[in-house]
Amino acid sequence: MDFNDTPDQAKFREKCRIWLENNAPYKDGSAKMESFANKDILKEAKEWQKKKYDAGWAMLHWPKEYGGIGATPIERIVWANEEAKFNVPKGIFEIGLGMCGPVMMTYATEEQKERYLPPMAEGKEIWCQLFSEPSAGSDVAGLRSKAIKKGDKWIVNGQKVWTSGAHFSDFGILVVRHDPELEKHKGLTFFFVDMKSPGIEVKPIKQITGGSSFNEVYFTDVEIPDSQRLGEIGDGWKVAITTLMNERLAVGDADGADVEDAFKWAKNQDSLGEPLLNNRAARESIADWYCEASGLKNTKLRTMSALSKGDTPGPEASITKIVSAAKLQDIGNFGIDSLDMAGMLRTDNEDIKRFQNAWLGAPGLRIAGGTDEILRNVIAERVLGLPQDPRADKGVAYKDIPSGKN
Ligand SMILES: Cc1cc2nc3c(=O)[nH]c(=O)nc-3n(C[C@H](O)[C@H](O)[C@H](O)COP(=O)(O)OP(=O)(O)OC[C@H]3O[C@@H](n4cnc5c(N)ncnc54)[C@H](O)[C@@H]3O)c2cc1C
Repeated sequence: MDFNDTPDQAKFREKCRIWLENNAPYKDGSAKMESFANKDILKEAKEWQKKKYDAGWAMLHWPKEYGGIGATPIERIVWANEEAKFNVPKGIFEIGLGMCGPVMMTYATEEQKERYLPPMAEGKEIWCQLFSEPSAGSDVAGLRSKAIKKGDKWIVNGQKVWTSGAHFSDFGILVVRHDPELEKHKGLTFFFVDMKSPGIEVKPIKQITGGSSFNEVYFTDVEIPDSQRLGEIGDGWKVAITTLMNERLAVGDADGADVEDAFKWAKNQDSLGEPLLNNRAARESIADWYCEASGLKNTKLRTMSALSKGDTPGPEASITKIVSAAKLQDIGNFGIDSLDMAGMLRTDNEDIKRFQNAWLGAPGLRIAGGTDEILRNVIAERVLGLPQDPRADKGVAYKDIPSGKN
């Protein structure tokens, strides 16, 4: 594993940095989910995405015909590293570009790719992911929404939930059950859908942060042309897994307050008449986060190294979110705790806001894109080779699986 940029990578990094310094808006667009409800953030995010698109930075690893510049996976990571140093609003596009785009790239027709991928990269059209349902989150293959084929159309009925950004999305990727007689993973089919289709109702969910970043989405007799099916009938699980693998990479790290913020804060924050950093428990926590941050950095370097050799990062990448989301939550807690009761008050102090945002946002991150427990299962079974969880539904038709509804 080589920890340093090659001369070409260093040159590329410099190019990214110069462009970002000349073009990035230095303002708080912080790209957090809670900002999604804010119309100005949406406008700013679209403007920033368009600026990147025009300069070739939007989806640099995509082929030129779909709005990219055909960059290598490493160049993509170098760009992401550099962009992360600037406070630019990009989270709004993460689901579309990180998950829907790769699925369309793999399964859509050439005509569909030409129609949908460039506006997605440009930020003109936003996409969402309609997987989770009230009784199917971790066990998404247990979903109940159904599609019935009628001529060259499908009629979809059901409910999705936790759909990030559905309230401002133009399109969504959707997995539904076409045949309850088959085993649960085999009776699923995958589509993309126009979110303005008659019969789709989007209801925003109010969150603890005060914002509304995700939604309930109801489908009542929604018609989807068969031409918008991605993959074969019954291939829904296979296509969903492509998305979830990309989600693992897209969600990856938890942005926000980190060990440097905690260290800087502890140096300056008074605790019983002396700097908080003099407190042994505080120092111990900061040392722990430093070790975790170093582990994460090296894990990412291992991923980069795999990419540079042409390998695809596998289930081991799950460790990044487990560690970084829990660290984010602990650091948020540390900052708030150090202020005692005042830690709970709304404030204009950017340092305190950073801890508060971490504390409010991290619990969601520990759930989104696979909960801590599910990712631990993935590591146990697929990295360490431990025995699988018992599977009572194996070989059973979906309609015969005992559930609260039977
Ligand atoms: C911020 C955020 C954004 C999201 N955005 C989207 C989106 O855009 N589109 C979308 O489709 N979904 C989205 N989700 C939903 C997300 O995918 C689900 O919340 C997640 O998969 C967990 O499902 P659940 O909420 O139904 O919890 P459950 O699956 O009901 O889990 C409840 C608890 O049981 C534990 N558990 C479940 N199964 C096991 C097991 N086998 N072993 C051990 N423990 C287990 C879980 O870890 C958890 O602690 C989002 C969620 C969040 C928080």
